[in-house]
Amino acid sequence: MGSRHDVGIGPSSSRTFMNAQFNPETIREDFAIFSTNPELIYLDSAATSQTPKQVTDSILNYYENFNANVHRTIYSIGNKATQAFESAREKVAKFIHAEKSKSVIFTKSATEAINLAAAAWGRKHLSAGDEILITEMEHHSNIVPWQLTAEVTGADLKYIPITEDGELEKWENHISDKTKIVAVTHQSNVFGTVNPIKEIVEKAHSVGAVVLVDAAQSVPHSQVDVQDLGCDFFAFSGHKMLGPTGVGVLFGKPELLEEMDPFLGGGEMIKTVNMETSTWNDIPHKFEAGTPNIAQAIGLGTAVDYLNNMGMENVHAHEQDLLQYAVDILSNISGITLYGNPQNRGGVVSFNVEDIHPHDVAQFLDNDGIAVRAGHHCAQPIMKRLGVSATCRASVYLYNTKNEIDRLASSLEKIKSVFA
Ligand SMILES: *Cc1c(COP(=O)(O)O)cnc(C)c1O
Repeated sequence: MGSRHDVGIGPSSSRTFMNAQFNPETIREDFAIFSTNPELIYLDSAATSQTPKQVTDSILNYYENFNANVHRTIYSIGNKATQAFESAREKVAKFIHAEKSKSVIFTKSATEAINLAAAAWGRKHLSAGDEILITEMEHHSNIVPWQLTAEVTGADLKYIPITEDGELEKWENHISDKTKIVAVTHQSNVFGTVNPIKEIVEKAHSVGAVVLVDAAQSVPHSQVDVQDLGCDFFAFSGHKMLGPTGVGVLFGKPELLEEMDPFLGGGEMIKTVNMETSTWNDIPHKFEAGTPNIAQAIGLGTAVDYLNNMGMENVHAHEQDLLQYAVDILSNISGITLYGNPQNRGGVVSFNVEDIHPHDVAQFLDNDGIAVRAGHHCAQPIMKRLGVSATCRASVYLYNTKNEIDRLASSLEKIKSVFA
């Protein structure tokens, strides 16, 4: 494994700069993609993050040394695989401060996690006259599953509108006795807005509603504590937090998960099966039908180790620094419109260049090696609210530098003169 530290199962502890200053230049050395693409300026971590060697090594280590199915075998590599898979669950539970690891269900993505909750909780608890409350700033993943559930159960789907600054508008007024569930994003993938989840949870609980938090953009970038937030469900994706694709997480309070019926049926999620009926396994296994994403979950566990070694407070502080720097520079370039100006904000900037289509802007930036997202960001209601069809979006992570923001700014200056 060369000079890199061992990333087998168990906690990784030998990272050399643990005590040294947080340094993106050193961090970048862990990411092979930056040496195979030396010109790359990657500003699209809100779409997917890059993967450190430690994570890919841990996946390789599983396949090369103890590849076996989990929870089924009595031979030793099978036990090792089960141990590694369950240890990943514990790492994830600790990372979000869940009280019990059985609250952590491995899914394929944040999208699947939200679909699980919307379908399985919705079926059990919603009927005509009930209200599902979402917001205008949701990702499609936290809109469409609720539309499907509303359709099946007869419940009404309502939403909280957003302000010009990209914040929730008078959210308190929308929570009533009819509200049964509030599904809200922790951090907007378009504006970076960090929503007041704790307050929303308090108000929702006071009317007997539960709260699902879409944490796809918060867990990778800040310290989160599901017990402190008090939320009932909490969904996120591995691939946005330095982990592999193909693994997501649904956290649920055990008492809610226990009363819900399964989402998918198959092996592993049952206790007994006869030809007519079956009984369900205990949580979390009840919700993990079939052979789970073993390698991906192990990889996610290593991503959690990696982030813990960096210190989430350091990651967050670094990104806040880059965000401020980017907002200052970009807002001083004439002809650039920045969208949203929320008070509480993560490392995401949405913008357009006057009279140039965002796809052309992104294409031009790509010629300079700069990767940004252009499009509707899976949030068409926000685009409608802004009165645009698309925006460009630059988003940062622990491996980005101020120099890269400078390069973005000078490339944007160049575009203006080319298209002028
Ligand atoms: C990316 C994202 C999702 C969906 O994540 P997938 O990994 O595509 O399932 C949901 N919500 C937000 C806010 C996101 O940014």
